[in-house]
Amino acid sequence: MFEKLFGNKSSGLIEVLPEVRGKYIENALLSKHTWFGVGGPAEVLYLPEDEDDLRDFLVRKPEAVPVTVIGGGSNLLIRDGGVLGVVIKLDGAFFRKIEVLDNEQVCVGAGLNNVELKKTLIENNIGGLEFICSVPGRIGGLLKTNAGCFGQTIADVMVSAKIMNDWGEVYELSAEDFNFSYRSSRFPENWIILSVVLQGKKSDKEQIKKTLDEQMTYRREKQPINKKTAGSTFKNPEGLAAWKLIEEAGCRGLKVGGAEVSEKHCNFLINSGNATAEDLEELGETIIERVKEKTAVTLEWEVRRMGVKK
Ligand SMILES: Cc1cc2nc3c(=O)[nH]c(=O)nc-3n(C[C@H](O)[C@H](O)[C@H](O)COP(=O)(O)OP(=O)(O)OC[C@H]3O[C@@H](n4cnc5c(N)ncnc54)[C@H](O)[C@@H]3O)c2cc1C
Repeated sequence: MFEKLFGNKSSGLIEVLPEVRGKYIENALLSKHTWFGVGGPAEVLYLPEDEDDLRDFLVRKPEAVPVTVIGGGSNLLIRDGGVLGVVIKLDGAFFRKIEVLDNEQVCVGAGLNNVELKKTLIENNIGGLEFICSVPGRIGGLLKTNAGCFGQTIADVMVSAKIMNDWGEVYELSAEDFNFSYRSSRFPENWIILSVVLQGKKSDKEQIKKTLDEQMTYRREKQPINKKTAGSTFKNPEGLAAWKLIEEAGCRGLKVGGAEVSEKHCNFLINSGNATAEDLEELGETIIERVKEKTAVTLEWEVRRMGVKK
């Protein structure tokens, strides 16, 4: 929307933001930060240097400036008009640290790519956390979405998390504080997860490697993981499988513009190359309508939609 107002020019927001040690990027194309490969620009993208830099920013920014946090963008459908205000991404080395604690616990920075946890688990004989490595995205997003697979969710292995609220105050929260439910938590939208302590269990290197391999093989076989997708589009309604309802409603392979329903796993939407966020959202809404007509079930989006339409 601000593209319409300002074109490629600065909206002026950057002028009122405090000086930071991290980096501001104006009109940063968010399609480069999402797995779908769609999404308009962030008015300003802010990559904080470290925790103090982030706190100073939050304390000193004008109150009216909205803030949105993103992780690896693997669960996001960002609309073509982009996101107003400041989009924060924890990307630097400070936010990607891993520290092995006693009793098979690991403290992981929220900006770490989940897959990067593999090496630490193998080297330290820590099992029980392998499932995390196969989920695309980063640790902060994992926690916020209560992501899970292979019979486990992050809620099962989380001990505590360090978070920053929108006034820059830092707290340690427990799993109860997050109030986790299926693919969801009650963590406020504009608060930021900084790091999380996870509970693993003593295991054998070879067993850990085997589990990691088996889980990745399963994904490669069953899911279109090398495509531009955001994973499961809709939550499974209680006792039902979303993909089955979508299939029953005749939506396998359905297309809108450059967006299509995956032939391999019909709860996955795919950007076949030139889809817009509008194509993907319209395809999703069409599926919801058709499934409702055929089965009387209303599907609920699992993919998080953000930003404004063009
Ligand atoms: C091929 C594929 C397979 C997938 N398989 C699974 C699966 O098996 N199980 C599953 O649960 N999901 C799956 N997903 C969905 C997705 O990977 C998860 O939801 C993932 O945890 C999202 O993490 P992210 O870092 O990409 O978050 P993003 O998509 O960037 O953001 C998701 C949400 O988290 C918030 N957020 C991100 N970082 C922070 C932070 N530091 N502090 C506060 N809030 C934050 C964002 O505001 C947003 O609301 C899959 C996706 C793909 C593409």
